[in-house]
Amino acid sequence: MTDIHKDIQDEFTSQRERVDNSYIEKGRKLPIGTIRTYGDKQYKKISDTGDSNNDWQVIKEDKPKVEEKKEYPKAELKINTVEFVPSGNMIKAEDFILNNSISKSVNADGFTLHDINTINKELIVLKKETGITLKKFEYLNKTWTEGGVLAIRDDAELSINTKEIKNGFDKNTSNYVRINRNISDIEKEIKEYKDLGWDSDIPKLKNRLHEYQKALRESPEYFSSSQYAETYEERIKYVIEHEWTHAVQADSRIIKSKINKEIAKRYSEVMVDVSLKKLYTDYAMTEYNEFWAESNALYRNKKLKDAVMIRLIEKQNKILA
Ligand SMILES: [Zn+2]
Repeated sequence: MTDIHKDIQDEFTSQRERVDNSYIEKGRKLPIGTIRTYGDKQYKKISDTGDSNNDWQVIKEDKPKVEEKKEYPKAELKINTVEFVPSGNMIKAEDFILNNSISKSVNADGFTLHDINTINKELIVLKKETGITLKKFEYLNKTWTEGGVLAIRDDAELSINTKEIKNGFDKNTSNYVRINRNISDIEKEIKEYKDLGWDSDIPKLKNRLHEYQKALRESPEYFSSSQYAETYEERIKYVIEHEWTHAVQADSRIIKSKINKEIAKRYSEVMVDVSLKKLYTDYAMTEYNEFWAESNALYRNKKLKDAVMIRLIEKQNKILA
């Protein structure tokens, strides 16, 4: 992957991420004696048996246990849960990631228990389907960025910013809503100008109106795939699916298979075809790595309408299976 650093225009209330390729740090297990703080609780690692119940001891607890139960709406997470069982505390949620080889190193500090369970539920599915083990997973503390990946061959670090995902979800607006708003503003303006007799300015306004009407016909509905999400939890899923694809791109099996060339070819075909572009997102059109990642997120949610790309993603998944 090439070195990419993205800052996306303010107008789009959408997925923002960073992708890099130059990260080196050894995955590590936390040593005995480590103290971790989650909310009001402090844990100390006292042994290394792999069983979090024994290995981590609560050394400080300010609030009664009832508080922790309140934080986690169980009914919501049970939807579609076949094998996944939510963790009861943050240490167990981290152990879930380590014990299932989702990542060699993890730091869930920054997430709520509800968020990390939502994340883990998706990560375990992607882990099982792709066989990829991340080098590191952690909270991403960066404004305007909903997720990030640092990937070199077979080593990918994933970070997720649930705070920005929440912001993005709350401010979600489709391109169509935004363009329609502009159209109705201009139509109002044209009418006002007519009423005032300012006829000479009307052609200019009409040109702008036509531009918006053209944009409405040719734009995709959303800037990013995550905007399809109907719930905050679903948006987390979209963001992870997008980011995980960058880890897939850095996987040796994928690199060796040359499927990247086929996807790049499809990207160049879509780029020059107005009706095909409409099937994707604006973000998918920024460059081919994003086209690949956005396509996967759309595919996984049955939103991808391009039959050629659906076949390529199925081919990609077979290579990983
Ligand atoms: Zn991306």
